[in-house]
Amino acid sequence: MDFRSPPLRDEAQDVTALLEALSADHRQVALETARRLVAGARTRAEERPYLDAFLQEFGLSNQEGIALMCLAEALLRIPDDDTADRLIAEKLAAGDWSAHAGRSDSLFVNASTWGLMLTGRLVELPASMTGDAGGFLRSLTQRASEPIVRQALRRAMTIIGGEFVVGRSIDEALRRSAREPALALASFDMLGEGARTDADARRYHDAYLQAIEAIAAARPAAHSGAGASVHGHSSISIKLSALDPRYALLHRERTLGRLLPRALELWRLAAERGIALTIDAEEQDRLELSLQIVEALMRDPLTRGREGLGLAVQAYGRRAPAVIDHLLERARIHARPLAIRLVKGAYWDSEIKRAQERGLEQYPVYTRKASTDVAYLACARRLLEAMPLVYPQFATHNAHTLGAILALRPEAQGFEFQRLHGMGGLLYDEARRQLPAFPPVRVYAPVGPHADLLAYLVRRLLENGANTSFVNRFMDERVPLDEVVTDPFVQLRSFDSLSHPGISLPAALYGAERRNSLGLDFGRTASLEWLQQQVLAETSAASRDCRFASQQELAAALQSAADHARSWAATHVDSRAAMLERAAELLEERRAAFMALLVHEAGKTAADAIAEVREAADFCRYYAVQARRLQGTATVLRGPTGETNELTLAPRGVIVCISPWNFPLAIFAGQLVAALVTGNTVIAKPAETTPRVALAFGALLREAGVPEEALHVLPMEGRIFGELALAHPALAGVVFTGSTATAQWLNRRLAAREGAILPLIAETGGLNAMVVDSTALPEQVVDDAVASAFGSAGQRCSALRLLCLQEDSAERILEMLEGAMDTLVIGDTAALDTDVGPVITAEAAQKLHAHIERMTARGRLRKRCTLPAGLRDAERYVAPTLIEVTDVADLREEAFGPILHVVRYRAQELPQLLTAIRANGYGLTLGVQTRLEYTRQHAFADSLAGNVYVNRNMIGAVVGVQPFGGTGLSGTGPKAGGPHYLTRLTTERVLTVNTTATGGNTALLSLD
Ligand SMILES: Cc1cc2nc3c(=O)[nH]c(=O)nc-3n(C[C@H](O)[C@H](O)[C@H](O)COP(=O)(O)OP(=O)(O)OC[C@H]3O[C@@H](n4cnc5c(N)ncnc54)[C@H](O)[C@@H]3O)c2cc1C
Repeated sequence: MDFRSPPLRDEAQDVTALLEALSADHRQVALETARRLVAGARTRAEERPYLDAFLQEFGLSNQEGIALMCLAEALLRIPDDDTADRLIAEKLAAGDWSAHAGRSDSLFVNASTWGLMLTGRLVELPASMTGDAGGFLRSLTQRASEPIVRQALRRAMTIIGGEFVVGRSIDEALRRSAREPALALASFDMLGEGARTDADARRYHDAYLQAIEAIAAARPAAHSGAGASVHGHSSISIKLSALDPRYALLHRERTLGRLLPRALELWRLAAERGIALTIDAEEQDRLELSLQIVEALMRDPLTRGREGLGLAVQAYGRRAPAVIDHLLERARIHARPLAIRLVKGAYWDSEIKRAQERGLEQYPVYTRKASTDVAYLACARRLLEAMPLVYPQFATHNAHTLGAILALRPEAQGFEFQRLHGMGGLLYDEARRQLPAFPPVRVYAPVGPHADLLAYLVRRLLENGANTSFVNRFMDERVPLDEVVTDPFVQLRSFDSLSHPGISLPAALYGAERRNSLGLDFGRTASLEWLQQQVLAETSAASRDCRFASQQELAAALQSAADHARSWAATHVDSRAAMLERAAELLEERRAAFMALLVHEAGKTAADAIAEVREAADFCRYYAVQARRLQGTATVLRGPTGETNELTLAPRGVIVCISPWNFPLAIFAGQLVAALVTGNTVIAKPAETTPRVALAFGALLREAGVPEEALHVLPMEGRIFGELALAHPALAGVVFTGSTATAQWLNRRLAAREGAILPLIAETGGLNAMVVDSTALPEQVVDDAVASAFGSAGQRCSALRLLCLQEDSAERILEMLEGAMDTLVIGDTAALDTDVGPVITAEAAQKLHAHIERMTARGRLRKRCTLPAGLRDAERYVAPTLIEVTDVADLREEAFGPILHVVRYRAQELPQLLTAIRANGYGLTLGVQTRLEYTRQHAFADSLAGNVYVNRNMIGAVVGVQPFGGTGLSGTGPKAGGPHYLTRLTTERVLTVNTTATGGNTALLSLD
């Protein structure tokens, strides 16, 4: 199987193909070996690292464990004491600490060790504190503002972090490795991943270069001579995401241009110095690109004949067996032996989440832990059989996995085991004790300052705390041996379903009622090729002529809609809903054509275009479900006997829908399908700049069964349309998305009409802020701010306009943000890797430039990206810009483009900041980045925003998941894609029937 070829099969098929990987005899030996190892290790419990015991007690299954993880994740990066104290107080108050006192026999968990851990040489704790863990921690809660507590906990977290790190610098780590036999054979990892800026990437690159030199210099003389194996001494591990800020398949060409020379330089130096170099495995999205880079290194003529190039392969990835076959083939072709480190994989939870968000057809990883275990062994077998073309490195802390590998290759030569520093030491010591001629065990040894530790630390805490994890359970005497060590092959055969019943496929995320819309996997070459050929190269529809409707045509359409209002209303809601569902299917079938229109007519990037098609499909399916619920059956109301009372929701009549250019498909579709499905006839006016995609969607709805007379799509100039349509006597309501000024104009027009008072649903703009306190993770803030402010060239009503940074961490975030802005690719959205396209018109660009100039004249410009030379349609481009204001009130109007304002605030002034944000009168979206409940709760309570997003970006609301719409100047509600939207498009009617009028109360009389 080619690992690049789509689509992934059904998971059960993949797992079934693995089930024969080990014979019954091998499996029996594996079980026996593993149980012996665990039993042996358990007799040496006192030798286990104290963190093991700690994590076993404070795992992720209780709130205390989660509170501690949160502290460990955030405390060390908080620069100001006030915020640190608040975090400590909050997290410690969240736990029932005394419940853990004395439960563990580990010194570490008991208070005396807390004391030891907390004090070290830094802080002297009174004996009263070290006598009782619960009391001690309670006292911390109450005394959190005292410097001693803060100091103590910072130290505690440093120690927790330090448990997983070998040294702060490579020299410190090498000194330690020379001292400690367990670290004599190591693979040093210079902590750092996910560079956000090129400066970061260069810093990591230099750190790797220095580390290679230092490891080579520290190599024992005995390992340097001719004939010495490159795998006999310590090596280096690198992460490609540390070497480039845009390491993603979508940015393939640029990434290769920057990253490949860096990776090549590292590999050449390592080869020159005789040091093995392993490329760590990261997210599945990056798998294909990483394999392309590995192949480029394998082809390098300067290092021909050199051994030591390696990479990690994640067995939880369903493509892993195919990846291994591919690597073996490449190794043969290039006559270059490879070291392959087989891991299970460290990003499982985020892979599942990402696949759900993206609406992928299949998960890229297995959904059952036992499948990962079995896949690991199937891959291990492939590697063992391919020796010596590969040098297998089995990275695991699981006794069964270890036992199974030894069962497959009892002579145990030609490969090694690996473990992470801080984990698995006891298991391997026991293995060496019990099994003669045990293979070498290399320790993965992270090196770096605490500031760079967090992402790694969190993964380790998750791994150790998850109760599916072997390390979490293996020393827990409460778990019997035969439960800790089970045969995953037997386990899998015992399941009714080979995919996890608790993890439904992304398509089934919303249950049986409605399907999730179909997304696209941006981590696969096949998807990107499809995009290139079917979407980006397809320009014909967008350039087709599009005639505007005349006033006569509008008048005729209004009349037709009025004439047919009753017959459409009489169509059963089930039929109307079925038409919407059919439309969603058709939309997905033809998504390439719609995406092409969005790219070429509306200037959307490919990623925005797929998101928009998905949103439109979600609207169709969601409103179909809602309409059936609301209108399918009457609501029977309770009342006195002898009478029936039924509430129904009836259509209103002719609804006018006016939509904007920035979501010419999703918003357009959302408005009109909501009106149609509830039985209204519709006159829809798309934006002047984007009529083609709207007309195409109108045609699709008709194909799905909506009669011509029920839906009229009329591209027209807005004011002319408004004057005429709003004056029509048959008008029953208006749905509008656009500027606040136009919404107010429409409102006045409606108010001036004689006759019935009509509803207006208006969704308008916002001055959206993101509030960031000093507990927030800067990398996350930068990712989310860039996506929210510059994504879609800032042309979303939800876009971030004002970034509010707590002054203590502001400068660090701003520097990173500026660096990240430099990596944005600005240009034509017909190019796959464009991040920021043009704004909608030259006129809009001029307005934005004028705003930038005004702010620049006031000395507020902080950063303006450089536009690439020779842009087609150059007058429509606005370079992403960062403007620093001193006061929230400096920002008075929405600058609808890629312009981000930033303001600093003092921690104690959070309430005033929130009041100032509220004072602008808008209430659309608000972002909050914090680890503090305090900040989150205040921000939510004190804001007008209709949509508040915590620790994520603030765009891309999902239909039915984040119903969207604002308050105040931002709109009237109800929220689009929410359960109340359809009710505004209907009128309530109650039918009361006196059932006794025809003779008597039969229901009452026939009671027993
Ligand atoms: C030396 C070394 C280097 C490493 N390098 C990398 C690397 O480059 N990239 C990387 O990603 N990881 C790396 N890791 C981390 C490694 O992935 C984890 O340590 C490993 O998964 C733990 O496996 P185990 O056999 O020790 O534990 P086990 O407890 O037996 O297995 C844990 C595995 O099961 C998976 N799992 C849990 N629940 C499910 C489920 N429901 N369905 C499917 N799978 C599930 C987990 O995600 C995890 O992969 C490395 C580990 C070591 C020891």
